[in-house]
Amino acid sequence: MTKPYESELHIALAAVKQASLICRSVQSAITDEVLEKKDKSPVTIADFSSQAVICRELLQAFPADPVIGEEDAAELKESENQEFLEKIVSELSVAGIPDTTPEQVCSWIDHGGAKTYSNRFWTLDPIDGTKGFLRKEQYAVSLALIVDGKIVVGVLGCPNLACPEDQSVTGTIYYAVAGQGAFAMPLEPDNSQVSSPIHSTTTQDFSESRFCESVESGHSSHGHSQQIAAQLGIEKDPRRLDSQAKYAIVGQGEADIYMRLPTRAGYREKIWDHAAGVLLVEEAGGTVTDIHGKPLEFDQGYELANNQGVIVTNGLLHPKLIQTLKELGIS
Ligand code: AMP
Ligand code: MG
Repeated sequence: MTKPYESELHIALAAVKQASLICRSVQSAITDEVLEKKDKSPVTIADFSSQAVICRELLQAFPADPVIGEEDAAELKESENQEFLEKIVSELSVAGIPDTTPEQVCSWIDHGGAKTYSNRFWTLDPIDGTKGFLRKEQYAVSLALIVDGKIVVGVLGCPNLACPEDQSVTGTIYYAVAGQGAFAMPLEPDNSQVSSPIHSTTTQDFSESRFCESVESGHSSHGHSQQIAAQLGIEKDPRRLDSQAKYAIVGQGEADIYMRLPTRAGYREKIWDHAAGVLLVEEAGGTVTDIHGKPLEFDQGYELANNQGVIVTNGLLHPKLIQTLKELGIS
């Protein structure tokens, strides 16, 4: 008997893996010179290549499913960006993807251009944590399937995160299916037999807890997280890392909390920055809400229009943390 969403998971894993390997190869070619110049072209190339390969797989397997992705090919089609488009085409050919013409690649990317809610759709962040990618640090390839407003499949490729079962292996793919648990496996070699379940911590005491947050203080208020930590008696230094790798860290029990605290009132979180990570943590035993304790609503289009910020915990620490945010008037 097949399990629910088995074929969707199978395709999503293959697609995220393919994209993660392309991203890894582009990132490894970033030289000190590129770093110094703050040249963003590697991330542009990897980002579009990732969206192209994933949308290609989804289009073949589930042609009727819309994909709400972060990118579209409008800029790539402009003549001044022809060089970028050629580089993307060449990355994909090197990766062994057939039929890679510039037109075909743009149409794959544009398949990820849906913006509105539907009963069944995928959401994709081809490279989450672009700043981490450019610093040669953490980033993630994130893909999730949402059915009737509920996340049912989440796959997160983290090419620079050590495998929880074997810290000597760098590069992990995480996945979860609603009601079926959360798992991690090495990005390479290709062997899904070695996947192992992951679990959030059972820490109950804030003085023993560790939280993680964005590296970028423009994405999450470091001042407010410090204030909360002081109030709750959190003693350990926060772990700062880019991308949804933070969800993976909480899911595998390396941190107890992930705080994403608004830096400005009007900002709305994007669904592709959270969907895969949220399912991963929930299936690992944790809890995810916004800063007011409300569940995240994935039926509002491409933004979490009814939510502010995100709070992720092992579950046990959740009520007190939400209460403290309220007491301190953080919003
Ligand atoms: P992180 O790597 O966790 O810092 O998050 C990266 C993501 O932050 C990007 O994919 C952006 O979509 C998102 N982002 C951009 N501006 C903001 C903001 N002001 N508040 C929260 N997230 C943001
Ligand atoms: Mg992102």
